[in-house]
Amino acid sequence: MARRKLVAGNWKMHGLAGDLGEVTAVSLAAETAGADVALCLPATLIERAVRAAPGFAIGGQDVHSADKGAHTGCISAAMLIDAGARLTIVGHSERREAQGESDAEVKAKAETALSAGLDVILCIGESDAVREAGRAVETVSAQLDASLPHGAAASTGVPDRLAIAYEPIWAIGTGKVPSTADIAEMHAALRGRLVAAYGEAGDAVRILYGGSVKASNAAEIFAVADVDGALVGGASLKSADFVPIVEAAR
Ligand code: PEP
Repeated sequence: MARRKLVAGNWKMHGLAGDLGEVTAVSLAAETAGADVALCLPATLIERAVRAAPGFAIGGQDVHSADKGAHTGCISAAMLIDAGARLTIVGHSERREAQGESDAEVKAKAETALSAGLDVILCIGESDAVREAGRAVETVSAQLDASLPHGAAASTGVPDRLAIAYEPIWAIGTGKVPSTADIAEMHAALRGRLVAAYGEAGDAVRILYGGSVKASNAAEIFAVADVDGALVGGASLKSADFVPIVEAAR
């Protein structure tokens, strides 16, 4: 199946009002891109970014699994939508590690976000130790199985609104990237898991690669079978770095 590529940026804990020009510049490039493009911003910038770049896909970086309640410092799906977000990341390794988020929590977050109407980018990936031990594919496959939201029959539209981001932890922000053969092996295994979970609908779910994607390596990574786009951290902060990655997905 031909899947349209998705190139999403994750600004993490970066960005102030003075950086909104970067969002506008990316949104202008997105108008003529041959791929879907999104920026997942700090919650404080979402509403202003939506105003600065109407029509462009702005997302959050996390969402709570509960609709509302006593969860100090957290953000709900309804709050993200209220601010104008169209999507959210869930299960980023920085949250899994620092906040101790389990696969079950990530799955609950994905289910809440999807049923509220947000698109979801669900992150999975192995540590350096797991890769060195030769257990990357089995570990990440098990992580996917345990994190995948329920109820993604084609008729629900969920497969088109869910993307998986394979992000080896050792490649995030380090400048290290797996070989294209290793990316291909992992993405093929994940495609198999998606089809096992969702049947034919699993073929529509996009599988992004994330971890030190830059303008200089994007085209090579996008050419790998079953790579349907990228989740980009550091190189998404400046439009001059991010737009060439978007263009490589054409
Ligand atoms: C990320 O944290 O999702 C990421 C891919 O970061 P970077 O591109 O900086 O490696």
